[in-house]
Amino acid sequence: MDIQFGVDYYPEHWSRERWEIDVRLMEEMGIQVVRLAEFAWHKLEPTEGCYDFEWLDSIIRLLEGHGIKTVLGTPTAAPPAWMIKKHPEIQPVDKYSRVRHFGGRHHDCQSNKTYREYIRSFTEEYSKHYASDPAVIGWQIDNELGTYFDESCMCASCTQRYREWLKEKYKDIDALNKAWGTAFWSQGYNDFEEITPPLLTATGENPSAMLDWKRFASDLIVDFAKLQADIIRKNCPGQFITHNYMNLADRVDYYELGKLLDFVSDDIYPAGSWQKQPHQPEHEMAACYDAVRGYKKKNFWMMEQQAGMAGWNTMGRAPAPGEISAWAVQAMAHGADAIVFFRWRACALGTEQYWHGILGHSGNPGRVYEEIRSLIGRFSPVMKEIKGSMPKPEAAMVHSFEQNWAIEIQPNHPDLDYIGHLMGMYKPLYDRNIQVDIVRGTDDLSRYRLVIAPLQYLMTKEIADNYRNYVNQGGNLVLDMRAGVKDGHNICMTEYELPGELRDICGIEIPEYDCLFEKEGKAEYNEEVYDISKWADIIELKGAEPLASFACGFYEGSPVVTVNQYGMGRVWYIGTEGSPEFLDALFEDILSESGVAGIGESPEGVELSIREKNGKRWLFAINFTGEEKRFKLSGTWRMVLGEREKKLQPYETQVYINELGAAEDKAEISMMQELLGMSSKELFIVLTEGRDVLLRAKLQDILKAHLKYYGKDSFNEEEENVDLSLIVGEYYDGKYKGR
Ligand SMILES: [Zn+2]
Repeated sequence: MDIQFGVDYYPEHWSRERWEIDVRLMEEMGIQVVRLAEFAWHKLEPTEGCYDFEWLDSIIRLLEGHGIKTVLGTPTAAPPAWMIKKHPEIQPVDKYSRVRHFGGRHHDCQSNKTYREYIRSFTEEYSKHYASDPAVIGWQIDNELGTYFDESCMCASCTQRYREWLKEKYKDIDALNKAWGTAFWSQGYNDFEEITPPLLTATGENPSAMLDWKRFASDLIVDFAKLQADIIRKNCPGQFITHNYMNLADRVDYYELGKLLDFVSDDIYPAGSWQKQPHQPEHEMAACYDAVRGYKKKNFWMMEQQAGMAGWNTMGRAPAPGEISAWAVQAMAHGADAIVFFRWRACALGTEQYWHGILGHSGNPGRVYEEIRSLIGRFSPVMKEIKGSMPKPEAAMVHSFEQNWAIEIQPNHPDLDYIGHLMGMYKPLYDRNIQVDIVRGTDDLSRYRLVIAPLQYLMTKEIADNYRNYVNQGGNLVLDMRAGVKDGHNICMTEYELPGELRDICGIEIPEYDCLFEKEGKAEYNEEVYDISKWADIIELKGAEPLASFACGFYEGSPVVTVNQYGMGRVWYIGTEGSPEFLDALFEDILSESGVAGIGESPEGVELSIREKNGKRWLFAINFTGEEKRFKLSGTWRMVLGEREKKLQPYETQVYINELGAAEDKAEISMMQELLGMSSKELFIVLTEGRDVLLRAKLQDILKAHLKYYGKDSFNEEEENVDLSLIVGEYYDGKYKGR
């Protein structure tokens, strides 16, 4: 499957006479794949049990004739009116017990057995029909699962299913009563049948019950997707299965959903009407892509990459010339192996009349068509070459759907937002061109020099032990406010002072805290005073060193940031939410102490990112601004795509390769091995990973052995961070003198 660029196409919105023109225009611009039919249930099954695949067959054949493959969507986000009329109970019910009616999309209850039967029959028929179609390469299940109305369906069917889910989890009602803390406000249950979803209450909610509801709702969505995935797997073994995620949306645990899929796909609209204008900040987009790559630790597809103004009843800003390309290249730089643009042509019908595409309403190719055609022409060869390569960050940030849910249920401070808080800590790294993996708290962290784990609010022994082992073996960990507050049932832990299970590695205790309600606070760090907000942990040192102190409140002068040596590693604790300036200053030092350095130096609005594979590295330089920008790179790089080296025109994107990448010759590799005194396995790991802590020690030994070459008497910190690729690069430049 050699696909780099595609487009989302809705031929059912247009006359057949137009199809030929569309397909020819697609071919001319280099489109290789289209996604079809994701909302076309009524067109495919106009009345119950009567299937009409003729129109879809026709367009697939027409596309195939122009060398374009097809990804088929299952249209289960839009059940047709005939089904709803016959079975109105398929429509979902919200927490006010109101029915959400037909007329939009996602007017479905995902536990409803009748609805599932309809899905089963339709998906069987649909997938069998296209199972051996050579032009159909894969399937997208449903659309943006979990992004319908605010809370999940709370109908009678979901209530019953929720009770079954709870029974399965707790076995007996006393265990549930204990886990949910129902001693409070007379909430004890005698039987699972007494439990309801979190419908609108007279006042207040049980946070433990709310968290289980969110877990249940996520599991229900995964199970709903599994129904279709199982059928397609059985009928279409040669075709892939994916789903279009929504970045960091929080309704379904994307890590769990990913287990059903061959790879994850993503939809992004940086300039959508709901985003910060003129567009979502670049660091937030970057974090989204890192998360999408992290959900399956694998390359992904962009299934809907913004190609024009986006919105429903109101619209966001028009992307400037070059801006759509810059966003698409950013997705590539973070691990996208294919870019499918949304949509082919601005729709004339329905809710999305103002969601613009590569073509406008008139259907005439214009500025955006030419821009994307040029992008495809320039980037197709690069995309083919880099396929399967990945960023290999030295830093990671822990992300968790459960932490997100728990903070949503009880934000502690009314403005505390889990994703917003993570973004704040991601930005200082992004600004320094430091790449980040988004990981789970239970993942193996040993390959990272630095792990940032914000808002570790729910704490389990498994996660605490994972952090402890990581730090003990030399890892650098950043924790912050509200760490270790709750157990896995969302009940406050009482055994120890905060940060609970993490107090030993932090070397602190937090017997008291303050919520910075309706006021900002101040903190002093390196003789500068910075703004802080939302929270103040009043820290007692139990072995840690203070780094910054409060300059506000009755706790003025007490530590707000600490660092503790634990085993071979270190733990920083930040007892507040820092302003961007404070976090920037703090991470300047944390990154330096952790030995994490950026790819190069670039001004605001310019991103540098690397993907690598088999010792080859490709560097992407992206200008997100309408101004000319310059940047500097660390190491030896050769420009393979771009106008002028290290100078970017407005919205220009450039690609460089590491000279090391040219070194594939086996004889040269073995010479290198001999010179560096490494086994071929070690060398391979250094060339492909190069970030392992133990290998770093090995690297230091090698560097020490080469002090003479560097003309130095001793080993200093700057050299400690010299990458092996530098030595190897020098070797290839003929400068390397050997031991
Ligand atoms: Zn329901």
